Amino acid sequence: MYLRLEGHDFHYEAENLCRTFFPDERINLLYNDSVPDGDSYIDTVLKSDCFSVCADINGRTACEKAVITPDFDNNRNELERILIVLIYNVLSKITGYNPPWGVLTGVRPSKLMNSYIELFGEKRAKEIFTNDLLVCENKAELASCVAVRESRIMNMSRPDSFSLYISIPFCPSRCSYCSFVSHSITSNSAKKLIAPYVELLIDEIRQCAAIAKDLSLRLESIYIGGGTPGILTAEQMTRICDTVNNSFDTTTSREFTVEIGRPDTVTKEKLIALKNADVTRISINPQTLNDDVLIRIGRKHSSEETVKAFALARETGFDNINMDLIAGLDGDTKESFDNTLNGIINLSPENITVHTLSLKRSSYLATSDTGISSQADTVSKMLDNAQIKLTNNAYVPYYMYRQSHCVGNFENVGWCREGYECLYNIYMMEECHTVLACGAGAVTKLRQPGGSYIERVFNFKYPYEYIDRFQEMTLRKKRIKEFYNEYK
Ligand code: SF4
Repeated sequence: MYLRLEGHDFHYEAENLCRTFFPDERINLLYNDSVPDGDSYIDTVLKSDCFSVCADINGRTACEKAVITPDFDNNRNELERILIVLIYNVLSKITGYNPPWGVLTGVRPSKLMNSYIELFGEKRAKEIFTNDLLVCENKAELASCVAVRESRIMNMSRPDSFSLYISIPFCPSRCSYCSFVSHSITSNSAKKLIAPYVELLIDEIRQCAAIAKDLSLRLESIYIGGGTPGILTAEQMTRICDTVNNSFDTTTSREFTVEIGRPDTVTKEKLIALKNADVTRISINPQTLNDDVLIRIGRKHSSEETVKAFALARETGFDNINMDLIAGLDGDTKESFDNTLNGIINLSPENITVHTLSLKRSSYLATSDTGISSQADTVSKMLDNAQIKLTNNAYVPYYMYRQSHCVGNFENVGWCREGYECLYNIYMMEECHTVLACGAGAVTKLRQPGGSYIERVFNFKYPYEYIDRFQEMTLRKKRIKEFYNEYK
């Protein structure tokens, strides 16, 4: 497929929006040149008095035009918005699909909503979303609810604040849909990596703590994530958590989350270890309570094990538990996703995070030139229903993000009971302060104190690289001090 540009260079948003409609298509950019005969194309032309978009996708055609007045000349943002609205209208006509997030292709719609709320107030911000950016009312409402809550939490962050992230990139087996860099420990050689990994991780946590202390940074939240941190033994969990508690000044920290992950890794011993280490929030991630779907996605646990793991966590005294679900898993239907939601709501965890399935190779429109496939349609209904059900059961949306390759270009939303927002999720997603990160695949994000500039320091991705090149990698952390010294 060709995207042809004439008289302008707004290729970035134009290309992203085309991908929303045709996620698997290769989109070739053409500047002024003609499109080869017989190929599908989207032709965008800017002239002094008008912007036009015409498309021919597998023989289905549509055209739209907008008049440009001279005052647009100096307003590139408005010109770009006009272009993507035209593209949206043309592709909607051809495919019959109206993406619910309108022309928005970015990963953080709530951040954009927040900036409009600050400038124009909530009512006008929602109007901009629905009228100018073609976002459906439901999603505009969702983004505004999230933005209001996020900003309350973000306001508690200070220029010297930071959060700590620790990565445990191992899983008991690989889920069929996973694109995350996590090591499955189904083989003995992979299992053998865990012990040396934990030793080096402890070393890196101590080094990070020394840096944070030298810079007098203030710890706000701690998150141990995966992979599946539940793969660790109780003793390994204790050692890692104790290292955090003994090396950092945790007196200012308001949250300590451990994402245990799969329910079948939960044991009483591990829960007690986490409780004794002052972990305040845990996450048990069933993804679905449909046993057939669990088998299809390659998980080795049942829905019954999820319920038992949750009960065990409550018995151990955890009063802040998150459960992750995914809408759009292979074999799941609207009805079975509803059953999952009902089952999870009955357990009454403080947080429920509803993800949309993200696939490296999404196929929802790629095989069809006539419109949205049934998969995206089903996911859309699952999410709408989740929004109603969770709201009716006293959950509020508090953070959200979108990923590329999400089925139907939908969103992931964290829901919580009042006052149980996960601070780390908001701080990390909105990038409002530095995140120091330890472990394989972890990325330290340095945020300029009092400013908005972000710089990243990458750890090695894979556990074997992390182990083999540990010294080399930790040298990169020197950059943290240099960064803060540059902004003194
Ligand atoms: S548990 Fe999560 S990280 Fe691990 S394989 Fe499954 S989806 Fe990937």
